[in-house]
Amino acid sequence: MTDDSRFDVAVAGAGPAGMMAALSAAGTGASVVLLEKNPSPGRKLLLTGKGRCNLTNDCGLSSFLERFGKNGPFLRDAFKALFNRGLVDYFETRGLMMKTERQARVFPVTDKAGSVLEVLMGDLEKRGVRLLKGAAVSAVQIKEGRVRGLKLKDRGTLACDKLIVATGGLSYPGTGSDGDGLRWAAAMGHRITDPGPALAPLRSDPKITAPLEGLTLKNIRLEFSSGSRRLVSDIGEVLFTRTGISGPLVLTHSGRIGEWLADEAAVSAGVDLKPALSEEQLERRILREFGRAPNKQAVNVLKALLPARLIPVFLNRISLGPEVRAHSVPRAARRKMVALLKDFRMPVTGTAGFSQAMVTRGGVSLKDINPRTLESRKVRGLYFAGEIIDVDGDTGGFNLQAAFSTGYLAGLSAAGRRPETA
Ligand SMILES: Cc1cc2nc3c(=O)[nH]c(=O)nc-3n(C[C@H](O)[C@H](O)[C@H](O)COP(=O)(O)OP(=O)(O)OC[C@H]3O[C@@H](n4cnc5c(N)ncnc54)[C@H](O)[C@@H]3O)c2cc1C
Repeated sequence: MTDDSRFDVAVAGAGPAGMMAALSAAGTGASVVLLEKNPSPGRKLLLTGKGRCNLTNDCGLSSFLERFGKNGPFLRDAFKALFNRGLVDYFETRGLMMKTERQARVFPVTDKAGSVLEVLMGDLEKRGVRLLKGAAVSAVQIKEGRVRGLKLKDRGTLACDKLIVATGGLSYPGTGSDGDGLRWAAAMGHRITDPGPALAPLRSDPKITAPLEGLTLKNIRLEFSSGSRRLVSDIGEVLFTRTGISGPLVLTHSGRIGEWLADEAAVSAGVDLKPALSEEQLERRILREFGRAPNKQAVNVLKALLPARLIPVFLNRISLGPEVRAHSVPRAARRKMVALLKDFRMPVTGTAGFSQAMVTRGGVSLKDINPRTLESRKVRGLYFAGEIIDVDGDTGGFNLQAAFSTGYLAGLSAAGRRPETA
């Protein structure tokens, strides 16, 4: 690039937000350049949904917004411009059909994130977006409170009056999102809400979890507590890893747990393995099982109640030898067994960090961005889109929709258009 390279709109970062921003700006006839520091765009997009890309969620607007917590309402205008059905239509009219799975999660019928990327790349070419790969933006040039251009690492400068920063957050930094945009935003005077990992596995005591590595407990309820604070999950599954716990319930609450831990609070997680039964019902059930086979070893009878891999752990916690027969299990041990089944507790020592977090909590403060246009309130001609903004949602397709919708709105606004959809 040379000093005379000039575009109406420049977009930094070719993730889902940046690609959609470039497409919507180019759709108005603006000349657009899309700058990606990796040799190819959409690296993180290819990892989404375990490679299947959970593109969006087919729930209604208010439920959708709720899945972003207290910052959800900020997204209302972006979702008005492009929401879930609009996003599905975008791909389906370009030949990539979508299907809806359990919990209204939407995936491409190909089960391949690569198909989503292919459509976007094809459209970028069709709309004449100039895509520069291996082009790392290193600084934003501002004069009199307005964007004037940007500097590229080892590739000179580029003049533009409008810049959309879509460089992502800090999670999975190996995919390219390592916080460049956040640093520029801070340097340009934007407030940054402390970034932290969200949708991340939690760390626990490996002495408890390592022997259970790979075990998934289904239809359980998870409760987190710390002093007087309590957070109870829905019914779902938990997966044991070598160093802790994961699975959708854990990921969903990990952002909040991370905040508790940041207060240096002692946090623990308790698994209710029998959420449908009260303690009394459960005790009756154990008595019934023991009564049916009084001379069997208690270990074998317990197989009807909990996964085989948990049995030694449970016996250990209630100090019961494996050879004990069902009829001679003392009442106190039975009670302890009930208590454990209802609350198998382990300490939570940390979150797994940005390297394993699916999204970043925090980012450019909503106070410094106009939600109607996504333009900065500090620098004219500067827009933000995607995960760099201080919004993060649940698992289930919510984050990609937010990236595409904010990208779409930022692209239109930067090109001087207002969205048509109301
Ligand atoms: C493993 C995993 C699975 C996920 N699965 C899902 C899912 O199924 N559904 C869902 O909704 N969400 C999912 N997410 C979250 C989703 O991927 C993100 O929310 C989304 O990618 C954010 O899009 P973005 O465009 O804002 O940022 P990113 O996708 O992070 O893209 C930012 C781009 O900017 C580029 N960049 C950074 N700095 C510069 C620079 N200085 N110059 C030029 N380019 C730069 C980066 O290289 C990158 O390509 C998943 C995340 C992970 C990690």
